[in-house]
Amino acid sequence: MSDITPLSSYLEDRWQSGEGDGSALYDPTSDAIVARASTKGLDLAAAFRHARTVGGAALRGMTFAERGALLKAMSKAIHARREELIEVGRINGGNTRGDAKFDIDGATGTLMYYAGLGKSLGDKTLLLDGDPITIGASSRLQGQHILTPKPGVAVHINAFNFPAWGLAEKAACAILAGMPVISKPGTATAMLTWAMVKAVTDADILPAGVLSLVVGSARDLLDHLEWGDVVAFTGSADTGEMMRRHPRVLATGVPVNVEADSLNATVLLPDAEDATYDAFIRDVHREMTQKAGQKCTATRRIFVPEDMIDEVVEDLGERLAGTKVGDPARDDVRMGPLASKAQLTSAREGIAALLGETDVAWGDPAGGDVLGVDGGGCFVTPLLLRAESATGGDAVHRLEVFGPVSTLLPYADLDEAAEGVRMGQGSLVCSIYGDDRKALGAIIPRLAGWHGRIVVTDAKIADKAYGPGMVMPHLLHGGPGRAGGGEELGGLRGMKLYQQRTAIQGNGPLLARLLDR
Ligand code: NAP
Repeated sequence: MSDITPLSSYLEDRWQSGEGDGSALYDPTSDAIVARASTKGLDLAAAFRHARTVGGAALRGMTFAERGALLKAMSKAIHARREELIEVGRINGGNTRGDAKFDIDGATGTLMYYAGLGKSLGDKTLLLDGDPITIGASSRLQGQHILTPKPGVAVHINAFNFPAWGLAEKAACAILAGMPVISKPGTATAMLTWAMVKAVTDADILPAGVLSLVVGSARDLLDHLEWGDVVAFTGSADTGEMMRRHPRVLATGVPVNVEADSLNATVLLPDAEDATYDAFIRDVHREMTQKAGQKCTATRRIFVPEDMIDEVVEDLGERLAGTKVGDPARDDVRMGPLASKAQLTSAREGIAALLGETDVAWGDPAGGDVLGVDGGGCFVTPLLLRAESATGGDAVHRLEVFGPVSTLLPYADLDEAAEGVRMGQGSLVCSIYGDDRKALGAIIPRLAGWHGRIVVTDAKIADKAYGPGMVMPHLLHGGPGRAGGGEELGGLRGMKLYQQRTAIQGNGPLLARLLDR
């Protein structure tokens, strides 16, 4: 690999380079340019046609088991390059080894999960949705809903923060459902996605047209949407809104699944047992510092009983103090830089806005120690803020600072905690730590309508429980309100975006034979 890698796009089953220099991609530790990507002059219209006709036909001709086998082969091809990919994650994402593994292993694990789902669905090519329904006086008059692949192409537009997992989680659902994919990663960190797709194309495992990759600016990508296509977007709320208003989206009614910002909350209930409390501290610390806080599921708001605030500041502060920040190439470093200068600027602006209505509980807004770096780089050191109350303030409930920054919010009673959580206007995930079953039973239904996922941790599972930032392919990922209203993953649920539901009405016994149930 030369010092500056030219990144091409994979369209019509060929790696193609755009014209000119295109966008520069940086190493956020050193600020050096490490790659360039241009999409200028690429024929996206031809790429869409090829994916729809060649890739779509190939997948529709395959059973779920066969599509699942493709996902398994993809997972293996990516895993075979794991070490190389971890290095790319460091160079172009500022990832520590642990952060890069979280992204890359999340990608291969999700592909494997959907491969297993495909195997279990077996030799079918369509799915039944519910049971047959008798619709008339004769029991022969029946209806049956079925799910088949949508006939177009799935356009996937991803955020910069998960260049590996972002591609895999969307592609797994679409390919298993039977739709070809055109994927566009966030440009700033696209080198990892590019290297991952290269591993897949080098292994020559996918039928023609099934997977295409656009590396660099989107340009006219959405102008090529047609009836039958689907868009799944992950990124900021502003870009998501622009997509929903795109003229081709409005003209074609193409569904747009949006995964956007999220002010995820955690709630520590009163009287939590020691094991539960320890899990709470462990998880909040991880959610603040893993990937330098650049996770859509990271905990941004920490609701704590007001008489426990000082204890939490002390225990969390101790953990944060032990988190070494710096050059992710160093073995002792646990947190690297933010992914880009743009993210650094945005995080600094966000911190300044939060400081207008909070106090510093732990950390230094001007920045702390950074190991192995002589100035420069996109570093933000962990910062724990403290609001006056659970429901006061505005920015703390509205502004997602995409970095290692979270705010403690003291609450007097559960009503106040629930109201404070609700002020986030809808999130991907909320986590609750407690052992008081009455309090848990009261708060879960109150918060469910504002969340895509709620993680409940009590003393019985505290040592084995996954934190809220671990997105599981078995369970729904997405959230209502400002989180975008999207739904991804969740086993079969994740395939629904890519499937057309059709009611087939007719002679019941004949339908049963035709639909093979
Ligand atoms: P972003 O600026 O909105 O960009 C997201 C993607 O949209 C990028 O691939 C970007 O491409 C692309 N894009 C921008 N303009 C476009 C256009 N006109 N047509 C087509 N594509 C276009 O977001 P980001 O800064 O990458 O990501 C950070 C945000 O994502 C955070 O707010 C975070 O909360 C959110 N996020 C949410 C989830 C979730 O699951 N809910 C997961 C991860 C991140 P370029 O990079 O080339 O501009």
